[in-house]
Amino acid sequence: MTHELCAHDAYVTTCDATVADVREDGIVLDRTVFYARGGGQPGDAGELRWDGGACRVADTLKSRDDGEILHVLDDGAERPPVGTAVIAEIDWNRRHLHMRTHTALHALSGVVFSGWGAKVTGGNMDSNGMARMDFELDGISQEFGREVEERLNVRLAEDVPVHVSFLPRAEAFADPDLIRTKVSLIPDHVDPIRVIDIEGIDKQADGGTHVRSTAEVGRVRVVKTESKGKANKRMRIELEDR
Ligand SMILES: [Zn+2]
Repeated sequence: MTHELCAHDAYVTTCDATVADVREDGIVLDRTVFYARGGGQPGDAGELRWDGGACRVADTLKSRDDGEILHVLDDGAERPPVGTAVIAEIDWNRRHLHMRTHTALHALSGVVFSGWGAKVTGGNMDSNGMARMDFELDGISQEFGREVEERLNVRLAEDVPVHVSFLPRAEAFADPDLIRTKVSLIPDHVDPIRVIDIEGIDKQADGGTHVRSTAEVGRVRVVKTESKGKANKRMRIELEDR
């Protein structure tokens, strides 16, 4: 399987790699800085370069067949053959926006849980600094949205560090914060479990990429609150600087 560099360091933008497989639906590398779409976070775009050639990567996703990371190329792009040494480089502006948006969602879920005890029922990110998150709430109003926005921005401005760690499965299953965020749903073979901890705000098992501290997110606006059914209420957010 491809070594996923971004799981350990989200700030690495480029790496050397070797083409391991060339498939109809994408290129597999032995190691990569590209994040494959998942957990609500869009896949990375970028470029592969090699001696005498280059191609654009339009998206990155995991194969449904074997879970390998596929670098999806533009239609008709030149494909480097198996064994080619390449330089893989992500579109950093796009990725950094995803990292900020993703971190904003963690902080949002933490603020809503600590203030109102509401759990998250779903969420998704767009690639343009907008996102949505659904909560187990009986009702939702514009005033609620404003209150959440205010508290969220206060917490973000505190510049709280975001820690990434890898916990043995047994240890993760004993952590009340992780139990609350349904760590038990993670497939049996995953061990250790990657944990994102925004000190005192939110802690959960997660495979995505995040910024180092909350101030890097900047300010967030709650742009919409809506009901998506009984006990399922949606908030749409956007980063002010995007
Ligand atoms: Zn995350």
